Amino acid sequence: MSTDERTLVEGKLDALLEAYPPADTSEREFWGAQFDHGLAWVQHPEGLGGLDVSPRWQALIDRRITEAGGSTRNRYLNVLGIGMGAGTLVAHTSPEFASRFLRPMFACEEIWCQLFSEPGAGSDLAALSTTAVKDGDTWIVNGQKVWTTLAHLAKWGLLVTRTDPDVPKHAGLTYFIVDMEGDGVDVRPLYQITGEAEFNEVYFDDARIPDEYRVGEVGQGWNVAMTTLMNERVAIGANVGPRGSGAISHAVEAFERRQAAAADGAGDPVSDHDLDRLMSHWIEAEALRLTAVRAGEARLAGTPGPEGSTMKLHWADLNQRTTSFAMDLLGAEGMTYPDGYEFTRPDETSNRTESVHRAFLRTRANSIEGGTSEIMKNILGERILGLPGEPRVDKNIPWRDVPRS
Ligand SMILES: Cc1cc2nc3c(=O)[nH]c(=O)nc-3n(C[C@H](O)[C@H](O)[C@H](O)COP(=O)(O)OP(=O)(O)OC[C@H]3O[C@@H](n4cnc5c(N)ncnc54)[C@H](O)[C@@H]3O)c2cc1C
Repeated sequence: MSTDERTLVEGKLDALLEAYPPADTSEREFWGAQFDHGLAWVQHPEGLGGLDVSPRWQALIDRRITEAGGSTRNRYLNVLGIGMGAGTLVAHTSPEFASRFLRPMFACEEIWCQLFSEPGAGSDLAALSTTAVKDGDTWIVNGQKVWTTLAHLAKWGLLVTRTDPDVPKHAGLTYFIVDMEGDGVDVRPLYQITGEAEFNEVYFDDARIPDEYRVGEVGQGWNVAMTTLMNERVAIGANVGPRGSGAISHAVEAFERRQAAAADGAGDPVSDHDLDRLMSHWIEAEALRLTAVRAGEARLAGTPGPEGSTMKLHWADLNQRTTSFAMDLLGAEGMTYPDGYEFTRPDETSNRTESVHRAFLRTRANSIEGGTSEIMKNILGERILGLPGEPRVDKNIPWRDVPRS
């Protein structure tokens, strides 16, 4: 890492923390100022929240901000925008266009959602059938999206549509930004096993999108969507929390509760085997965390590569195993739901959960969201190991002629 870059980044950080001490500054004001100082996503150009330097510096910035009492939780609150939308806008739109959206995105003044999946298109995203038809300077959108996280809070959506049904499926797609508060956009809750409606189904009924909100060329939607998805896997799998945080914290909590209960004569003591299992989960969690740190430091500017998929795959598997182990430790208490089972509409994504029980249920989704673990393995096989690709029988057939359910 160059000394010049370090001097630049540290100088900006010192100036930010001096002018906006986190203890005396509201979160949103701080995030806005962080953007203005080019410390939102350092790899992006100046004026767009970055400094045009290596993305490796971001971990240092976030650590210093947290140590100074500031918060980086905007990365969770607006995960679809900050984690995926920002990189997509910078890569595929003009700086003038992107600058309209990026600051309110980073400051969480405008929440974003991702409108990719449909009832008939998830892993096979290119099969999607929501249409956009050109009418003068606008596009008319009709169709249904599903599993749309945070759509109920979103001002803007990242939308992939079919604009040409007469060419093979990947070639007929076009990408837009859509105003979620506009006419013809209907957002309805979908409740999950945790009791929360964190995601939604979204219906488009003659919704109009100005052509200026198109991202990339007509028919290039697949390439733009790939930028979003590659950023998504890094945002999900390579998100580095402090040591001992996340799923492993629930296992430690459950272990300590069991120990305390046994000391009070209210349960069986933990065994050496339980301790061995706790230690091996801890070591795996720490190895994954350090791998994510190393991957972050090795990251180059531009759209992330398939390395995000390896992190995402292991993260999902470990989260599920660790929270299952935590539930084992709770024994009969694991069968209750102490938080109370209420249907709620959260105001943020709930990967960071407080209770062991809720974390156990929420982590079931980790191997589905952001691409399933099977699809991650396909990507690794093909793009990292160089194994033969899956047979793709519909690759050269016009989308209109591909059988669909
Ligand atoms: C919590 C959560 C949040 C989400 N948020 C969003 C969001 O904000 N926006 C959005 O657009 N989507 C979102 N999704 C949707 C998610 O991206 C899809 O659920 C996912 O891509 C899988 O698609 P599917 O559900 O249609 O399953 P399918 O694609 O139908 O897959 C069903 C099963 O078949 C397997 N499978 C499918 N194809 C293959 C293959 N080629 N090789 C091997 N196995 C295969 C899958 O792994 C899976 O086990 C979210 C999902 C969850 C769980």
